[in-house]
Amino acid sequence: MVKKIFRSNLAVTLAVLLAAFVLLMGFLYEYFSAISRGELEVLTDTLASAFDYGGVDALEAVVPDERRVTLIDGDGNVIYDSVVDAETMENHSDREEFIEATSVGVGESTRYSSTLTERTIYRAVLLSDGSVLRVSVSGYSVLTLTLGMLQPMLICALAALALSAFISSKTAKKIVVPINELDLEHPLENDVYGELSPLLLRIYKQNDEIEKRMEELRLRDRELRDITSNMKEGLVLLGEDGKIVSINPAAASLFDVKGDAVGRDFICVCRSTEVTGALEKAKFEGHSETRYEKGGSTWQLEMSRTESDSGSTGASGAGTVLIAFDVTASLSAEEMRREFTANVSHELKTPLQSIMGSAELLENGLVKDEDKARFIGNIRRESERLVSLIDDIIRLSRLDEGTDFTYESVDIYALAKEEVEAVSEIAARRKITVSLCGEETVVYGVRRLFHEILYNLCDNAVKYNVDGGSVTVSVGYEDGRVLLSVRDTGIGIPKEHIPRIFERFYRVDKSRSKMTGGTGLGLSIVRHAVLYMKGEIYVESEVGVGTEIKVLLPQQI
Ligand code: ADP
Repeated sequence: MVKKIFRSNLAVTLAVLLAAFVLLMGFLYEYFSAISRGELEVLTDTLASAFDYGGVDALEAVVPDERRVTLIDGDGNVIYDSVVDAETMENHSDREEFIEATSVGVGESTRYSSTLTERTIYRAVLLSDGSVLRVSVSGYSVLTLTLGMLQPMLICALAALALSAFISSKTAKKIVVPINELDLEHPLENDVYGELSPLLLRIYKQNDEIEKRMEELRLRDRELRDITSNMKEGLVLLGEDGKIVSINPAAASLFDVKGDAVGRDFICVCRSTEVTGALEKAKFEGHSETRYEKGGSTWQLEMSRTESDSGSTGASGAGTVLIAFDVTASLSAEEMRREFTANVSHELKTPLQSIMGSAELLENGLVKDEDKARFIGNIRRESERLVSLIDDIIRLSRLDEGTDFTYESVDIYALAKEEVEAVSEIAARRKITVSLCGEETVVYGVRRLFHEILYNLCDNAVKYNVDGGSVTVSVGYEDGRVLLSVRDTGIGIPKEHIPRIFERFYRVDKSRSKMTGGTGLGLSIVRHAVLYMKGEIYVESEVGVGTEIKVLLPQQI
């Protein structure tokens, strides 16, 4: 703007200067012409009087040096010339001033030199004897005058231009300063040029509109952030250039992003070649997926290309949206299912093979009579094992399926009493004492699951006990939670095995477990049941001393 004002001012100055120059030149030219003509008129009349008085001699005597005087007879022949020899001069009958003078008494004309640098004014008067007296005066032509004035005029123009430039820049700055200092946040509060009022009003309205839109955007952004920040899944939006547009906390923690990652290249955040390769693929093919391992967890990354239209602006851009799902649990569940199936097949196959072997030997009469009872006993034991194994598998799969169990008020003390009585008979055979301590403890839970817990724990406490040992079942409260504990004085569990005893089919001593009819599923069922009722389970054990398995459950499940 300053430049524009400066340029306009300069142009006006130049135009004014040029016009002034032309006017001045015209005025000077006219002024000097008028002087010359006046002088010529006086001189012509004086010389005519001199000629009338004394002829050519009188004329010669008064002719001024710097003027040219010519005397022409009525036919146009030059009789006398003050500058050139009259004899050599041509006939002047065709001269404009001569013709005019002979017809009206006075004639005047102006002629320019061939180079246009000189102008001569001729004035002729008809004398009383019929001859014509012509006086001429030469002066500068407009061109000469213009060329002569050019240098001073140029100096003037330069000075004027410099001054104009100085004033223009000062003025322009003075005009622009209040505009630059406009408070565009509050346009109506500005006290500046009245001409700017419509503009300020429009800015005010547009500011208002922008503020409304911004508020809407902020609201949407907040909504989106609220949704995405509470998502367990990681969500990353990438721009066309691969820069992060948005990243939710789950994704930020997945990719170990510290601080604000918006605007950063995703490749700097996640350097995994699989992920960047998948992103490239999604860019070209529209969709891709890959796995990402972190801290023992496996994440499934799904990437899709997005096309966005920026509404009114009509601009469009392609970005990529990345969603990360933690698939560790489902992968391990899958792995567990696979392992379980393999284990089940194996566990079922062993007793079946034993049954088949015994049956075949009996069938072929290869067993001595005295051994038959042992073989048949073996078939019965293995069949019992199969039945209990299948029972356990069915129970476990019900828990796995998450069957909806019925919740009710259960007195677990009374339930424990029944279990104690149930195992007491087998325990008595090995001189193991089973006792129950505690009080009536009513819990709102699943009766069946409590039964599974108590049955399996009591069964193990007897199974893995020493002859003459003891089992203590306690029911009550601990730290505001319901406590259920089964303690024995049995063989104990070596420390390194404790973390694994809840795994399916895990047995510390396979042969002992099988001998006692164990399936390796009892504690898995217990753990499942406890977790189903949102409880926790703890094991304390020492080899040769005994084991205590404690279950803590919330009072209101
Ligand atoms: P099982 O049917 O073999 O008893 P469980 O799942 O009930 O299977 O128990 C897993 C393993 O944990 C057992 O094989 C046994 O080695 C060990 N165990 C469980 N309870 C006790 C206990 N009270 N004392 C010693 N070892 C135990």
